Amino acid sequence: MTVRRKAKIGFYALTSCYGCQLQFAMIDELVQALENIGIECWFMLDRNSDENAEVDIAFIEGSISTEEEVELVKKIREKAKIVVAVGSCAVHGGVQSWSNDKDLEELWKTVYGDGKVKFKPRMAEPVENYIKVDYKLYGCPPEKKDFLYALGTFLVGSWPEDIDYPVCVECRLKGNPCVLIEKGEPCLGPLTVAGCDARCPSYGIACIGCRGAVKEVAWFDSLAREFKKKGLKKEEILQRMRIFNAHNPKLEEMINKVFEEGE
Ligand code: SF4
Ligand code: SF4
Ligand code: SF4
Repeated sequence: MTVRRKAKIGFYALTSCYGCQLQFAMIDELVQALENIGIECWFMLDRNSDENAEVDIAFIEGSISTEEEVELVKKIREKAKIVVAVGSCAVHGGVQSWSNDKDLEELWKTVYGDGKVKFKPRMAEPVENYIKVDYKLYGCPPEKKDFLYALGTFLVGSWPEDIDYPVCVECRLKGNPCVLIEKGEPCLGPLTVAGCDARCPSYGIACIGCRGAVKEVAWFDSLAREFKKKGLKKEEILQRMRIFNAHNPKLEEMINKVFEEGE
């Protein structure tokens, strides 16, 4: 698809902390981009936004966590030429999926007790579970440059590239000391999508995997073996890897395999 001048864009929020759109709303270059885009819907920027408008590019932030959001994403998909899932919540179900091995009722009671709400809740899920997603912006939140790159590339009628290598690549290029090797910390850099310029290890902090696992081929098992050698228990490894990968179909199976291997 070729997107020409004054492409119409929409930014929609599902269940989220609004951090992704806040990050992008503060991009200075967005003002320059207004020559080439018309913002049809972005409530954070314009209270008169039209959620029903047809758009060229729909950016969706947040996980699907209510019945109403299932209907909303279907409506967005019908009216958008390109749908971009923005951030860990939309791409992977977000931190709110961390406990998706538990029962909705149990979680509900823990958070709301007997409180009543207007919406119909469901377990948090990635947007892709309900509609076709054309492109993904990884991270919690994604980098500003990722948003500008994707938007600019779509505007010139091309298609942005995906990142298929891990945070370790950027970390080694920066010459950081490795917190996994040198301090024995459970860094998830080896299986996490790069693009953040290894932000956390650059401050000596282990990556918690906020950009999600690299494609479908992340070697949860190889890394779990390393963590196991360093004394981590199965449940600790699983919990750490689940923070941003709870919906990955391979995760649990791979970790189980490592702990069935024996010592
Ligand atoms: S991905 Fe992170 S920053 Fe973005 S809405 Fe979800 S929790 Fe907030
Ligand atoms: S600190 Fe983490 S991201 Fe950096 S090289 Fe070591 S394991 Fe990879
Ligand atoms: S180092 Fe890991 S946790 Fe930190 S920003 Fe990058 S992907 Fe996210």
